[in-house]
Amino acid sequence: MSKYLQIITIAVALTFLSSTGDAKQEYVIRGRTMGTTYMVKVVGDDVRELESVKEKIDSRLEEINQSMSTYRRDSEISRFNRFNKVGQKFKISNDFLQVMKAGQEIHRLSDGAWDGTVNPLVDLWGFGSSGTRGKIPPKGEIGALLPAIGFTNIDVLDSGFLVKNQAAVTVDLSSIAKGYGVDQVAALLNNLGYRNYLVEIGGEIFAAGRTRETTPWRIGINRPRADAAFDAIYAVVALSNQGFATSGDYRNFFEVNGIRYSHVIDPRTGFPVSNRVVSASIVCSTCTMADGIATAVMVMGVNKGLEMINRLDGVEGLIVVEQHNGRLADYRSKGFKEMIQR
Ligand code: ADP
Ligand code: MG
Repeated sequence: MSKYLQIITIAVALTFLSSTGDAKQEYVIRGRTMGTTYMVKVVGDDVRELESVKEKIDSRLEEINQSMSTYRRDSEISRFNRFNKVGQKFKISNDFLQVMKAGQEIHRLSDGAWDGTVNPLVDLWGFGSSGTRGKIPPKGEIGALLPAIGFTNIDVLDSGFLVKNQAAVTVDLSSIAKGYGVDQVAALLNNLGYRNYLVEIGGEIFAAGRTRETTPWRIGINRPRADAAFDAIYAVVALSNQGFATSGDYRNFFEVNGIRYSHVIDPRTGFPVSNRVVSASIVCSTCTMADGIATAVMVMGVNKGLEMINRLDGVEGLIVVEQHNGRLADYRSKGFKEMIQR
């Protein structure tokens, strides 16, 4: 679950606080969740109850994990995955329901490129929990899995139920769960009365209000890789009440005969995508959607990906592609340029 674009929140070290003494403080809370780390920055005059804020965040994240972690045998999602009765209702929590609905939306917007049921293929290709395999699976094994792949094999009922149309279909929402966790921590802080904060889980971000210097939150994006000269921050985006997520593949892949097989699978072919997209960074009103759209763009490639981003209101993005000469090329959505700070 590591991040490929390293995301750095600019701590805005530039300024000394005003001598009038009315400066706000920035409090940092750190912890672990979803196999990665989280960080929350809260701006306030005096956040006394920091310990209790951390407890609330941890217990909210624990709830989400217990709902959607495929690493837990007794999570809701794992129980649903074992449930093999076609046409029968399976009761789910509101968290699971909301993420399934977001999944349906991303599936629709991406024309099926994002698909939360690809997990058996992810495993077969050796990118799942069962460990790496480093070689191409037999065609027959890929084909055998395809009938159970497809988000439309699951009906999502607003009354809080899922229904399988295929006994073998399973879901894995790991490509949007971090984004959802971010949004839920943001909602929690909002309910506690905070208006200026930044939430980050494993590189996925939501930024609300302003920093303690009353400037917008600025997020630095690193070059996704080994091009040493570009290792420094090369773009800084300013966020105002927006989510930001990055999907990338230059670490989690294997190569056979010079072809790169990434951990992102095209659900329609059953093969990993090989479109030379190394990362996609997306800005959107929610981090859940940003996270899912980022993964979708990895599957769709530059042309279709950009077309989708440009079509959607309030969504902007940066796609980085590795050219044949090994250099990286940037593709920005129409409005992304205005978001870049330098
Ligand atoms: P990360 O947060 O780990 O960088 P992503 O958010 O891009 O990565 O999610 C990658 C994960 O999404 C993969 O490990 C896999 O489990 C899952 N996945 C792979 N292909 C697809 C797809 N076409 N649609 C939805 N999820 C996918
Ligand atoms: Mg994602």
